Amino acid sequence: MDPTQDPRIRTVVIVGGGTAGWMTAAALARLVAPGGVKVTLVESAEIGTVGVGESTLPHIRAFNERLGIDEAEFMKATRATFKLGIQFNDWARLGDSYIHPFGDYGAPGGEVPFHHYWLKGSRTADIGPIDDYSLPVVAAREGRYAPPSDDARSLMSTYGYAYQLDASLYARFLRTRAEAGGVTRIEGRIVDVTQDGTSGDIRSVTLDRGDVIEADLFIDCSGFRGLLVEQTLKSGYQDWSHWLPCDRAVAMPCASDQPTVPYTRATALEAGWQFRIPLQHRVGNGYVYCSSFVDQDAATDRLIGRLEGEPLKEPNHIRFQAGRRTRNWVGNCVSVGLSGGFIEPLESTSIYLIQIAITKLIELWPDRRSAATDAEEFNRQMDLEFERIRDFIILHYAATERTDSPLWNHVRTMTLPDSLAGKIELFRERGVVQEYREGLFLHPSWIAVYLGQRVVPRRYHPLADHRADKDLVAALLRLRGTIAQAAGRLPTQDAYIARHCAYDRSAA
Ligand SMILES: Cc1cc2nc3c(=O)[nH]c(=O)nc-3n(C[C@H](O)[C@H](O)[C@H](O)COP(=O)(O)OP(=O)(O)OC[C@H]3O[C@@H](n4cnc5c(N)ncnc54)[C@H](O)[C@@H]3O)c2cc1C
Repeated sequence: MDPTQDPRIRTVVIVGGGTAGWMTAAALARLVAPGGVKVTLVESAEIGTVGVGESTLPHIRAFNERLGIDEAEFMKATRATFKLGIQFNDWARLGDSYIHPFGDYGAPGGEVPFHHYWLKGSRTADIGPIDDYSLPVVAAREGRYAPPSDDARSLMSTYGYAYQLDASLYARFLRTRAEAGGVTRIEGRIVDVTQDGTSGDIRSVTLDRGDVIEADLFIDCSGFRGLLVEQTLKSGYQDWSHWLPCDRAVAMPCASDQPTVPYTRATALEAGWQFRIPLQHRVGNGYVYCSSFVDQDAATDRLIGRLEGEPLKEPNHIRFQAGRRTRNWVGNCVSVGLSGGFIEPLESTSIYLIQIAITKLIELWPDRRSAATDAEEFNRQMDLEFERIRDFIILHYAATERTDSPLWNHVRTMTLPDSLAGKIELFRERGVVQEYREGLFLHPSWIAVYLGQRVVPRRYHPLADHRADKDLVAALLRLRGTIAQAAGRLPTQDAYIARHCAYDRSAA
């Protein structure tokens, strides 16, 4: 770089206007643009967006808060519902059902994690499933919701929540904020990309009508195609489809007159799984499947046959390959969203990965002298995020006992990544969840899925023996009753939304 040049990033181009593009634009408008950085977003209506992605994780609340977004306004604008967890049906065995909650098991306190007490108690008496010891699970099953409490001693503090939202309305909502914050939106299809002859950095993108747009930093939010990071910069792709063989999805929203439940449902089918995401005005549905075991027409028929109401759109067919870019940040280009990789939406992790990429990009905001070291650190952190999520998703498949179809036979018997095999063994042997500092999914999430998938520890923690069997069982049953009562006192989610954040049906 020429030492007389100003090293600061002055101009940024975001390529793509899906959820990733507009989340990035809104964040940059708020956090970076006030420092004098000019942000431009290019999107193509002709290409469109992937058109799915509606179930989120609790982290999105921190993202919205950082942007100064009012929750009720956001819920109305995106016709969102609250989400206390994900219900998994038929995963370990046909007929099984459990909820992975956004919260803890048991009440605050205890010498060892609650599941050890539950394991000990369930060896001596019929104390019910661990689901009964989680307030968010019991509330979710009954369709109830109220915001958690800040009082750490209260049972009402034992959970968090996320949203189920209309992704296109969320993008529109963020667009309004981004444009108000100074982001320039350009409609057009990028047909050419030019690079610096020496560094290989991206110099400019050219639109179909001939405009050339230059920038110091490019953010690739172009979706699966990875227009800049892959097609131009050849980052490379790590293929994980041998562990996660689903490679297609068909999605189709439908009408519903049922009460909205505060959870997303994932039902395992013969060749994949079906999602159901209830919003205020409709339900999002999809069948994520493996094309080696079912063809597109059969998958579409299977989904349509399972819809609970009138379809509201034609089926949206999507192809993907599980994996991630070898480098998410290359030169002066950072990939955010599907352009950076994709792990199937079983645990609603993609929007989280968008958010985390934006957060890390802002933390490591480069100038033109430091981009290489920033990129290295960004890539290290994103690798960890992707791999932790990958292992967690594989667990849902690997820990199945199903033998009823080729997909389940394949995943039940596949060789696991070493990073996961060790974790499962540790839990199976001693009920211990392996700790890690960076990355998503903390103890309660792993416990929910291990136990829900019938990975039951051989031993519980010896400290649980400090409590006599009889006393422990009595205390557990009391706690179960307290949780049931606390859940029963909450309003239904529909009543809560009607009171606080229902969208305006007359304006729809
Ligand atoms: C079946 C399925 C279900 C999912 N469910 C969930 C979920 O429940 N929760 C979750 O967190 N995530 C989910 N995801 C992932 C989620 O959909 C995506 O992470 C999210 O929508 C972000 O997509 P994107 O913005 O990266 O890409 P896209 O939505 O594909 O946007 C790409 C943008 O780039 C533009 N573009 C591309 N090429 C050009 C060009 N040449 N010139 C100009 N513009 C261009 C397009 O016009 C578009 O605006 C799901 C994904 C699938 C496949």
